Amino acid sequence: MSRIAIVGASGRMGRCLVKAVAQQQVIYGQNVVSLGAVVSNSSLLFRDQDAGELVQLDNKLGILVINDLTTAIDEFDVLIDFTIPDASMKYLKLCRQAGKKLVIGTTGFTDAQKAEITKAAEEIAIVFAPNFSVGVNLSLKLLEMTAKVMGEYSDIEIIEAHHRYKIDAPSGTALRMGEIIANALGDDLNNRAVYDRAAIRGERKSGSIGFASIRGGDIAGEHTVMFINDEERVEITHKASSRMTFAHGAVRAAVWLADKKTGLYDMQDVLGLS
Ligand code: NAD
Repeated sequence: MSRIAIVGASGRMGRCLVKAVAQQQVIYGQNVVSLGAVVSNSSLLFRDQDAGELVQLDNKLGILVINDLTTAIDEFDVLIDFTIPDASMKYLKLCRQAGKKLVIGTTGFTDAQKAEITKAAEEIAIVFAPNFSVGVNLSLKLLEMTAKVMGEYSDIEIIEAHHRYKIDAPSGTALRMGEIIANALGDDLNNRAVYDRAAIRGERKSGSIGFASIRGGDIAGEHTVMFINDEERVEITHKASSRMTFAHGAVRAAVWLADKKTGLYDMQDVLGLS
């Protein structure tokens, strides 16, 4: 049985996560997954409201929204965190101290913050992924295959599109795609990434991996990777049509963590694709 806590619950992903746990309870039953705590720091408005009301479900969920996770530390086994990097580091520290498992969906971490997550995973079990959708994780596998077969002689470009409120660019998923391609070519993304073409004058550098970001409207998340050579072009595209896909993936990851004590995992591990 996994008792799940959700932070950032009044955010776009937080609301989807509350709904996803409620739906999984219906699918799997309350013996497999339950909602342990729902935390919103954003406003007093949601305090002491039922979590079902917060996400506009027809029924109440029997869990009141709180604004401090420490007051519910005994109520959960796994924390799902889709917030901002600074808040995630705070929750990482709390989970480490309290011996709680963690699913991290936040993006935009610095290398130093990522190193801290890796270090914490020596003591607690963590699933950390820039994208929890099943389709994206399958796409990552396809990208690895494609890079191995035609990456050396193709120009590789990664284009992503997200809603107007997204803070970081390129997206964490686009960066992960770039890392997987670079690794499949036996290299590090830092040696190949080109983020700002306007800052560079001259022809495309052979072997580089270009990134482009589009921001607008309510796009949930779209990624296209092109492998372009003089004779043909392969494009691998994933389009998320609802944020619920990330939320269902994150809940699946939280349930998967049940028998893990320590270690850093990603969604490839959860889906058995690694
Ligand atoms: P959002 O702005 O709608 O929500 C952010 C939440 O974080 C809000 O509830 C806010 O109250 C909370 N928050 C902000 N500062 C905080 C603090 N100091 N302490 C505690 N809580 C704080 O954003 P969103 O669209 O829900 O995205 C959240 C994160 O999830 C982003 O990093 C986004 O890139 C990422 N994301 C990841 C995936 C994935 O599959 N991994 C999918 C979608 C979004």
